[in-house]
Parts: sequence; structure tokens; C-alpha cells
Amino acid sequence: MRRFFVEKADKPILKLTGDERKHLAEVLRARQGDRIVVCPNDGNDYIYEIVSFDKTSVTLEFIEQYVNPTEPDLFLCVYIALLKGDKTELEVQKLTELGVRKIVPFVCDRTVKNTEKTERLLRTAHEASKQCGRAVIPEISEVKNFQEVISELSKYDSSVFAYEGAYNAGLRLGDVIHGDEKSIALVIGPEGGFSDEEVTAALSAGIKSVTLGKRILRAETAAIAGAAVIMQLCGEWK
Ligand code: SAM
Repeated sequence: MRRFFVEKADKPILKLTGDERKHLAEVLRARQGDRIVVCPNDGNDYIYEIVSFDKTSVTLEFIEQYVNPTEPDLFLCVYIALLKGDKTELEVQKLTELGVRKIVPFVCDRTVKNTEKTERLLRTAHEASKQCGRAVIPEISEVKNFQEVISELSKYDSSVFAYEGAYNAGLRLGDVIHGDEKSIALVIGPEGGFSDEEVTAALSAGIKSVTLGKRILRAETAAIAGAAVIMQLCGEWK
């Protein structure tokens, strides 16, 4: 069943309007009697049946609701340095598929791109959530700077930054993540990596640096692989 995100799942009748109406009525050409899943971003799936169409809305009748089985218990937030081209969007799409709950784009010493339209990233997260069967669209934060990133990391049960220079120190994700955390933050640098000053600032703030292995990964690979390993370590890969 196709899924549609709304602000509120009204009962017993819901009027679907705007872009979601257009998608259902004009793109998918749904018919009276078809059933769809409606998600008000609360972790539940609400099943509705199409009653009728008019020019501005589709009238839906509530059938049943249940907890969406795909949402992880873990609140994983990934901080991603802005990347060139469409790479940041690619990260958002894949992190959404992996069940990440929040994505924070940021700029730092070596980011080449210094602005990003967060509405575009939110649209990508919305489309990816629909495609992969989630009931929650990950929150996309406004773009932050590195100092702001560091100062908010203490609110997570665990927070780590991926640093290719950490290989010799030998700290791996599995050494830092215990698996019973409720919230985790993972920080990934830009194409050119973190500057020495940023590494020092993060370590002084008590953020652990972790290696993602012997090979230097592209930033987007590091974000996707790092999130996948954390999900596995926390028992969310099932
Ligand atoms: N500074 C590096 C260079 O130019 O050789 C490359 C930076 S890497 C392409 C981009 C980001 O991915 C890094 O800032 C880091 O967060 C993450 N990363 C890539 N490979 C990694 C590894 N093996 N261990 C830890 N982090 C890694």
C-alpha cells in the first residue's frame, strides 16, 4: 500500500489535500475503494479507504491503525558536513532508509560548499521515507557550524566522530557503542576531512574519535557505513 504523510490523521474522515492529494489522484490515479497508509509522523500507520475525489481533496475513511514495525527504538542522529554536488542528498536518502531519526548538516574548516537548501533535503527524506515504508520522516536541522555541533553532542547517550587519523589509536565503533544506548550521535567530516584544530576541539570536549577501518572512505560512504554499523551494534538490523 502506498503511504502518505499528513499533519493529523483525522477520524473517521480525512481530507487529503495539497501535494499528497496530487500524487494520489493525478500521479498514481488511485480509485474509489483503494486503500492507502496515512502517516502523521507519530510512528503509527493508519489505513484509510478512498471514498471520493474532488478538485482540491480526496476524501478518505479510517479503517484501522497499528504501530509501524520498521521504526528503530534507537534515536540515531548523524551530523554530516556539507558535500559538493548532490552528495549531501545522497547521504540523506540512504540515512533515511537506514532508520536514522535526525540529520544535521554542518559547515566546518574544510567544507567546500557552505550553504544548502534544507527544504530540498527534507523533500529527499520525505520521498525516501515513503519508498522504504517508514512512518517517520527524519528531522532535518538547519545548517550548523562545527562549534554548534560540538556543543550539542553531550545530550546523546554516546557521541562519536569518525576520524581517519584514529586508526592507529585503535578505537572502533564497537569499542565505544555498548548497544543499549537510547540515543547516539555520529559526526562525519567533509571531503577534505577535519582540520587539526577541529580534531583537538572535539577531543577536548570529550567526544571520542573512531576509525571506520584501514581504508579512507568517501564522506558519503563513511556516513552510510557508520550508521549501518551502529544500527547493527544496537540490535536494530533485524
Ligand atoms: N582527510 C582525508 C583525506 O583527504 O585524505 C579524507 C577525509 S574522508 C574522505 C571524509 C570523512 O569521512 C572524514 O572526515 C571522516 O569523518 C570519514 N572517514 C572516511 N574514512 C574514514 C576512516 N577510515 N575512519 C574514520 N573516518 C573516516
